[in-house]
Amino acid sequence: MASTLFTNARIVDGTAPEAGSPVSVLVEGGTIREVSKSVASAKAKVIDLRGKTLMPGLIDAHVHVIAGVADLGRNAALPDSLVAVRSLVIMRDMLMRGFTTVRDVGGADFGLKQATEEGNFPTPRLVISGKALSQTGGHADFRGRYDDRSTPVTGHKLGALGRVCDGLDQVRRAAREEIKGGADFIKIMANGGCASPTDPIHFLGFSVSELEAIVEEARMAGTYVSAHVYTDEAIRRCVEAGVHSLEHCNLIEAETAKLAASKGAVAVPTLVTYDKLVSDGPKLGFPPDSVAKVDVVRSAGMNSLAVMKQAGLAMAYGSDLLGEMHKYQSEEFVIRGRALPAHEVIASATHVAAKLLRLEGKIGTVAAGAHADLIVVDGDPLTDLSLLTRQGRHIPLIMKGGAFVKRVSLG
Ligand SMILES: [Zn+2]
Repeated sequence: MASTLFTNARIVDGTAPEAGSPVSVLVEGGTIREVSKSVASAKAKVIDLRGKTLMPGLIDAHVHVIAGVADLGRNAALPDSLVAVRSLVIMRDMLMRGFTTVRDVGGADFGLKQATEEGNFPTPRLVISGKALSQTGGHADFRGRYDDRSTPVTGHKLGALGRVCDGLDQVRRAAREEIKGGADFIKIMANGGCASPTDPIHFLGFSVSELEAIVEEARMAGTYVSAHVYTDEAIRRCVEAGVHSLEHCNLIEAETAKLAASKGAVAVPTLVTYDKLVSDGPKLGFPPDSVAKVDVVRSAGMNSLAVMKQAGLAMAYGSDLLGEMHKYQSEEFVIRGRALPAHEVIASATHVAAKLLRLEGKIGTVAAGAHADLIVVDGDPLTDLSLLTRQGRHIPLIMKGGAFVKRVSLG
């Protein structure tokens, strides 16, 4: 692979409120080799970034790449072949928005991950949980009230977000099967949800002993648990059980946020999805009962950002969009920018997310030894976060693993 030397690169990586002074960045093969004021390379192709901003490739820590349609019950019934091809399209579009790594928190299997690594399609790096674990009647149980068919034990469809398991034996087995199947971490549904039919938001998912058993299984495999949670009570019991990654957190209160921060947990707010489920959900097949539930968590979401910032709870970037709403993935930057400083919003999609994904130093940073996952932005996103929106219109260059994914004239 050829080497590339970026010159006059002002780096924005979320670690400071202003762009750094211009440096040179040498990329060799798939890796950033050197970042300094005076890098020289006789063979590298030089790209002058004067007037532009260089950022590490973005990281979205909460996506569902298999969610081709918003009605998740319907998505789970689609043939695997169709789901797989649609997910490649969804991932390509994510990459073209500048997301070079995404963490799938329910649905994607190791086959999809392997496909991204084989590199025949343009996709972000993919970190997966496999199927999310849900109790009967929980957030990944899409059987309606009158559907009493038993849940499948094996052979879960690719389009299914999760799998149902109840009791200590079953939750341990499910966690072990996901880890055996290549899950990088374990996702659980520990609270009611919007998209599922029979669980109000306040429902608590899994008993405390089930939560602790799943956390133990994750620890035994050297990894962590991520939980779908909205209410303060649900978040608190997850934190106390040792859950590390707290998804959504719309209704979190100050004391719980402080406890979570003291335990080193990370929150992953996903505000954009509630906005879009209300505005676009009904016409895209999101069931009316589900739209009604969204309002409960939507209004509290903005306030949760202030609560978590105050408590010093780290926040990673999450979008959690479904079906045709995936195109709004980057709008989370703008929504969070209304409540938080721009560099903190950017940090959520760079080093904070990298640490959560356990890829610190490898992604989310422009530093020697990191993967050469880079984007060039026309202008300074610290003064205008919307430069990261509009499907990459203001991102003329995207590089993943040292290879150009997008490169239009920088003139
Ligand atoms: Zn989700």
